[in-house]
Amino acid sequence: MLGLNLMARRRIGLVATGGLALGAIALGGAVYAVSPGFTDDRSADLAAAINPEKPKSVILLIGDGTDDSIITAARNYELGAAGRFALDDLPFTGAMTTYGLKVGTGPDYPINYVSDSAPTASGWSTGKKTVDSRLSQGPSTANDVPGTDYETVLEKYKKQGKRTGNVSTAEITDATPAAAASHINLRACQGPGPIDMATCPTAKKSAGGKGSIAEQLVDHKIDVILGGGMNRYAQPTDAGPTALAYAQSTHKYQLVQDKSALDGVTTLDNGPILGLFTPGNMTPRYLPLTATPAGAGGPNTTCQTADRGTQPSLADMTDKAIELLDNDKGFFLQVESAMVDKQEHSSDACGAIGDVLELDNALKVAQAYQAKHPDTLIIVTGDHAHSTQIVPNGGSTTDATGATGGKATATLKTADGDPMTIAYSTAPPVAGSSQSHTGSQIRVAASGPQAANVTGTIDQTDLFTTMLGRTPSKLPSGPTTTVPAPTPAPVVALLADSKITAKQLRSPGLKVTTNVAGATSVKVTLLNGGKTLASASTGKYGGSVRLKVRSSVKGTLKVVVTAKGPGGTKTKTASVKVTR
Ligand SMILES: [Mg+2]
Ligand SMILES: [Zn+2]
Repeated sequence: MLGLNLMARRRIGLVATGGLALGAIALGGAVYAVSPGFTDDRSADLAAAINPEKPKSVILLIGDGTDDSIITAARNYELGAAGRFALDDLPFTGAMTTYGLKVGTGPDYPINYVSDSAPTASGWSTGKKTVDSRLSQGPSTANDVPGTDYETVLEKYKKQGKRTGNVSTAEITDATPAAAASHINLRACQGPGPIDMATCPTAKKSAGGKGSIAEQLVDHKIDVILGGGMNRYAQPTDAGPTALAYAQSTHKYQLVQDKSALDGVTTLDNGPILGLFTPGNMTPRYLPLTATPAGAGGPNTTCQTADRGTQPSLADMTDKAIELLDNDKGFFLQVESAMVDKQEHSSDACGAIGDVLELDNALKVAQAYQAKHPDTLIIVTGDHAHSTQIVPNGGSTTDATGATGGKATATLKTADGDPMTIAYSTAPPVAGSSQSHTGSQIRVAASGPQAANVTGTIDQTDLFTTMLGRTPSKLPSGPTTTVPAPTPAPVVALLADSKITAKQLRSPGLKVTTNVAGATSVKVTLLNGGKTLASASTGKYGGSVRLKVRSSVKGTLKVVVTAKGPGGTKTKTASVKVTR
C-alpha cells in the first residue's frame, strides 16, 4: 500500500514538472506517505461524522494522567510507532487545557498550572474550575473551608430519568469517580471512618453534612458502581453500621466481589449494583518495571502480565455496565483507567503502559455499543498531563554531549523490535518518591452526537455542556459536489503588417500570424467596410496564413481573428493600409 503511494507520488511529480498547480498536489502526496492508511481527502468523511443532535447516552472514558507522552509510549510498545489505538482513530480530536485554581480570598483566585485529579474531574463534571483536592465544590479561602456545591453531569442526567454508571480501576471513592457524584472539600475523605473524615468535619453526617465520598456515591443511587476500594466501605458510618451495610440496607445495593459474580448479574431489578473487587486499587495489567538512576530494563525487556486473580478487567466492567444501563431513556457512564496515573507516580513504565491499553480496550467495548446505538456520544480523554517522557536511548548515563536521559529511566523492547527509553524527572530518583503531574494540555477525542465540539483547543470544563448536549446548530446546506471552475475564453494574439501595396496584396498576399489558446476553431478574415475580401482557417492554435485579394482595393482594411472555444468566442482586430 505504501509502495503504491510512493509510485503514484513519483508519477505525479514527473507530470507536474513546470506545472504549478500539479506541483502542489505532489507536495500533498509527500505528506500522505508518512501517515498510515490515509491517502484520500478526508473532508467528506469528517463532514459525514458531524452530528449536531443532542446525545441520548454518554460514555466518558478517562485515562488518569493519560497525556500524549504516555499514549505514544504505550503505542510504541504495544503496536509499534506506526500503529494506531482505537482512541487514535476517533473522527474528532482536540487539545484540552486542564489548569485549576488555588485557594484565596477570591473572586479572582490564583491559577494553579499543575492540577490534581480532583479539580480536573470536577471541571468536566460541573463545568467550573476549582482548587486542588476539591470535589465538585467551588474554591474557598482554605483547603478545610468547604466551597459551594456544583451540580454534576451525573446528577443532571439522573434528574432527567437517565440511568447512571461509575467505573474505575482505582478505589471507587478516589478523586476521579468521586467528582461525578459527591461534593466535599477534600478528596482524602473517602470513607466514613474517623481517620478518613478528619479533614472534612463539617461534611460528616453527624454534623449535618452529606457524609464521606463512599456514602455520597451510594446516596446518589448510581445504578452501577464498579471498582476497587472495599476498605472504604468497611469503615463504620457515624450511625454505626459500615458504609457497605448502609448501602445494602438503605439503597438495596447488590454487592459483587469477583468477575464471575459480575458476569452473573443480568438485571437492575433487584437493586443497583455495587462491585468492589479489591480492598484498595485494582491490579494493573502488567507487573511493574520501575525506572532507576542506572536505567532499568534493556533492549530485550518486555512487560510481564500480572495475575489479576478474580478481578474483572476495565473492559469487562465497561461491558457489564453498558449492558445494565442500556434503556429507552439513555444513560451516563463514566469509565476510568486509573492506574496509568498511579503507576506513573511510581516511575513504573510497564504499569502505566498496560493500563493505556486497558483504556483502549474499554473504548472498543463502548464503540461496539455505539455501532448499534449511534445516538451515543463517546469521549476519551485524560485529566491532566504526567511525568512520562520518551527520551533518546542511553539510560541515565551521561552521554558524550553531557546530556542525560532523565533522573530515572527504563528501557523496553517495543513492538517494532527496537529499544525505547522512558524517563522520569519530576522527582528525586530515590525509593518512595512520587513523580508529579505536569501542566501541559492533553488530548481529547470523541465520536457520535456533538463529538465535533472537542476539536480545536478546548478547556476541560467545556466537556460539561457537550456531555449534557448543546443546543444543536444547523449544518450548512448547499451543493454536495464541487462547482467546476468556468472554462476560460480563448486567448488570441495577432500579428499583421500595418501597410501593404495593392500589388503585394494580389501576391504573395497579406501575411497574418496568430497564436491562440483555448480554441477549437480559428478563422482569419480581411474586411473592407462590411465586405469580406478574403478569409482562411488555421489550426486551433492559430499559425500563419496569407490572404490574397485580386480585385483592386484601396484605403484601410481590417483584419479580424475569430477564435471559438468551449469558453466562448474571442475576436481580435488589426488595421492594414493599402498603399500604391
Ligand atoms: Mg483518577
Ligand atoms: Zn496522580
